[in-house]
Amino acid sequence: MCALTAGRRGRRVLVLDRSNKVGKKILMSGGGRCNFTNLQLTPERFISANPHFCKSALSRYTQWDFIEMVERHGIEYFEKRTVNGLSGQLFCKDSSKRILTMLLDECKQAGVHIRTGCDISSVKRQDGYHLHSNQGRFAAESLVVASGGLSIPSLGGSGFAYQLAEQFGLNLLPTRAGLVPFTFSGATKALCRALSGLSCEAIVYCRETSFREDLLFTHRGLSGPAVLQASSYWHTGETIRVNLLPGMDATTLFKTWKRERPKALLRTLLAEKLPKKLIRELEALHWPGQAETALTEWPDRQLKTAATLLQAWELKPAATEGYRTAEVTLGGVDTHELSSRTMESQTPGLYFIGEALDVSGHLGGFNFQWAWSSGYAAGMAV
Ligand SMILES: Cc1cc2nc3c(=O)[nH]c(=O)nc-3n(C[C@H](O)[C@H](O)[C@H](O)COP(=O)(O)OP(=O)(O)OC[C@H]3O[C@@H](n4cnc5c(N)ncnc54)[C@H](O)[C@@H]3O)c2cc1C
Repeated sequence: MCALTAGRRGRRVLVLDRSNKVGKKILMSGGGRCNFTNLQLTPERFISANPHFCKSALSRYTQWDFIEMVERHGIEYFEKRTVNGLSGQLFCKDSSKRILTMLLDECKQAGVHIRTGCDISSVKRQDGYHLHSNQGRFAAESLVVASGGLSIPSLGGSGFAYQLAEQFGLNLLPTRAGLVPFTFSGATKALCRALSGLSCEAIVYCRETSFREDLLFTHRGLSGPAVLQASSYWHTGETIRVNLLPGMDATTLFKTWKRERPKALLRTLLAEKLPKKLIRELEALHWPGQAETALTEWPDRQLKTAATLLQAWELKPAATEGYRTAEVTLGGVDTHELSSRTMESQTPGLYFIGEALDVSGHLGGFNFQWAWSSGYAAGMAV
């Protein structure tokens, strides 16, 4: 995005990428359909130590600007529906490849040159920028660092931007994996493994934030959109809470059931609300002695405990799956030292954009939109 924007302005642009192909994450994204933006774009959907930083770039190149380009290239798209209605998430109808091809076509029209397989060994600043690489030396007036974050090394993730930031005296904020599944140990791990593949709607709470979307049990722990979103707020050692009965008051519901259907088993009634397999696993772990007890025999206190478990299930993740599967890297280059209008650092001619910065979006197309918007901002300035 930065290259094509600068190229359209008549700048001579060379893109150097270490990988054998550009845009690998675009190809892999959104299950192969690239969730390229979100209609509900607001600065609140981004996590950063400097929350106002993203506003300028996001307002100068919006979701509508990207959609205009997508439509101009005849790419068909759709808005994903979730349990809560329309999500604002836009995906290609066909394939992610269409987005990459569109960007490459735009680059070509703008006269941008691209070199892949280019490993940069050093960058020096003296009358512009001088780069040494396995493909020779390059010199330029300006250098835009767009090498992303640490997530998924096999798709190009690297710490190169952080190295350069350090070299030029920029502050770095601690990095950690975001939009990533949780892993568990002990009984919770065994429960997750037994339920692997099963998903249900839930509200996942982490710190003062919560997300109501699908939750997915995996062999190692928990995943699914609600969990991935919460993971970006989680710090090692913290507990998350899961409400498996969103929009309900389980305590009142259980009391009503006890009064109106006293002979029934709790699991029979719960099966109207939750997958049977999940209820079986929870009852084996948390109320094994009561599993075959008719509701009328349950003391109110125990019913309340079961209700609390289902609506405020406290879980302590052992860890996340880390950068191996994380969709994004939290933290990174401190934006306090960059211009929010141009992405230029205090070193003239040196710019940082995209995921390398301490700006991380929620799940749902926000990270690509940040890449487009910050790329455009720098592309207009270089
Ligand atoms: C599996 C997966 C699915 C995703 N799905 C979505 C989605 O649907 N919607 C969404 O909004 N976001 C999604 N994301 C997040 C999104 O892909 C990233 O936030 C976005 O790609 C960041 O763009 P970027 O240009 O900053 O970095 P990247 O896309 O990571 O690009 C960095 C480039 O720099 C190159 N590079 C790295 N190191 C060097 C070096 N030393 N020298 C030269 N080149 C180097 C890499 O090869 C790569 O091509 C997904 C991420 C993953 C991993």
